[in-house]
Amino acid sequence: MTTNGHPAPASAPPATYSGILSFMRRPHTRELGGVDVVVSGVPFDLATTFRSGSRFGPSAVRAASAQLAELKPFPWGVDPFETLNVIDYGDCTFDAHNPLTIRDAIVQHARTILASGARMLTFGGDHYITYPLLRAHAERYGKPLSLIHFDAHTDTWPDDQPDSLNHGTMFFKAVHEGLIDPKRSVQVGIRTWNDDTMGLNVLSAPWVHENGIAKTIEAILDTVGDAPTYLTFDIDCLDPAFAPGTGTPVPGGLNSAQALAIIRAMTPVNLIGADVVEVAPAYDHAELTGLAAAHIAADLLCVMNAQKLARQNGDALTDL
Ligand code: MN
Ligand code: MN
Repeated sequence: MTTNGHPAPASAPPATYSGILSFMRRPHTRELGGVDVVVSGVPFDLATTFRSGSRFGPSAVRAASAQLAELKPFPWGVDPFETLNVIDYGDCTFDAHNPLTIRDAIVQHARTILASGARMLTFGGDHYITYPLLRAHAERYGKPLSLIHFDAHTDTWPDDQPDSLNHGTMFFKAVHEGLIDPKRSVQVGIRTWNDDTMGLNVLSAPWVHENGIAKTIEAILDTVGDAPTYLTFDIDCLDPAFAPGTGTPVPGGLNSAQALAIIRAMTPVNLIGADVVEVAPAYDHAELTGLAAAHIAADLLCVMNAQKLARQNGDALTDL
């Protein structure tokens, strides 16, 4: 059989624009044996304070990730999936019509995965989902955890209602519950006012622009040290020019190159889990936001792969 006179290949990998979508073409399965990293989605957006729509975030990130599965990731030049066993678990299920059951459904979703020994890379959903994810990670790894938090917002505004669903207050709750240690946690890209930042270290967006990437990386690594650390990336950390598809965009943010350079330098961190949240594709243009989120997530997997290789070789993470 020929196509335009050229012989058709006997078999060919799926084109980047075809096929059923999983994150970076990873196997879609719930078999957890021998898995290093479980990718999953939490399509929840009932906690938004402005524009909803991040329930479609996991699908958007998966769609944008297909083209990243074609080549070895830049600048690593290494196929992470040769050593790192990564699956796409699908999405967390919960009863959206009984909102007060959702937090614990997400905790249980994470508990099941973490019990296998795998790490999690989770796609939101709005940023509230990080709260139940932190609960499950603190249960598994011990509290308090360190937090590396990329965002335009501190998400530590006061909230004394334990069951409220609010994507701007969950780190207030996390500090009060002792889930995270504010002194060993850091927020990057902040550019909204909060009278009380609860003792977390803040590297505001103007600070990052003024001091540059190298100093930002140094400050993050110095703050978290070797403590078990959870990394959360609210896509609105990026400037709306780079991530318009999100619920509460704020001008003056990081660009994609800055964010990716920082993420790629996180190999010395004792990283126990990560998420990328707040992608709301209905407000996106030209898939900018989904693609940025997919790249950040792919780099996080490359960081985890470099860490696995170092552990296998008996190298210290700080030498990476
Ligand atoms: Mn946030
Ligand atoms: Mn935010």
